[in-house]
Amino acid sequence: MIDQKLLLISLLFVLNSTFASGQCKLKIIDKRVPFGMRTETGRVIEAIIIHSVFNKSGGDKYNVKQILKQFRQYRVSSHYLIARNGKIFRLVKEKDVSFQAGKSCLPDGQTSVNQCSIGIELVTTDDVSDKPTEKQIRSLTALVKDIQHRHAIKYVLRHSDIAPERKTDPWNMDWEEFQKKLSIGGLKIASY
Ligand SMILES: [Zn+2]
Repeated sequence: MIDQKLLLISLLFVLNSTFASGQCKLKIIDKRVPFGMRTETGRVIEAIIIHSVFNKSGGDKYNVKQILKQFRQYRVSSHYLIARNGKIFRLVKEKDVSFQAGKSCLPDGQTSVNQCSIGIELVTTDDVSDKPTEKQIRSLTALVKDIQHRHAIKYVLRHSDIAPERKTDPWNMDWEEFQKKLSIGGLKIASY
């Protein structure tokens, strides 16, 4: 009887830690790109930068394939891209540097932001009638929490926070609401 109890407790512990790591909840599709990035070893990740992007070449503004063509053209990327339906694509491995932040500055004065951050793009336009979908926000929240479990994240910031004179993204995003969602589960993050 005692053995059974012990077994149950251990099983619950394993289940709990698996869920706590966030790994079972997240489905990530690998769609890695060879541009807008550089391979790296041993970098320390301290920040997550949230962006938004859309296809500017005509046709479907939310088309992921066209957005990636755009990235190739401008030699930029991001680690993750979240489509309108909430699907998460991994474009660059977290250990590698993605060219997503550009000339920017963290609250502590660090300017090599690409070197110490993970970039996440939400597919949405800058039109005032548009905004990230609920599914995107749900995926983003789960992804950020997952990253927070794997790295000592000091900042979760908008691109516009770190480059206010150049950038306005992520567009039409309810940032306060997102921060509330992030704080559920007890992980505290700093922001501007
Ligand atoms: Zn951006």
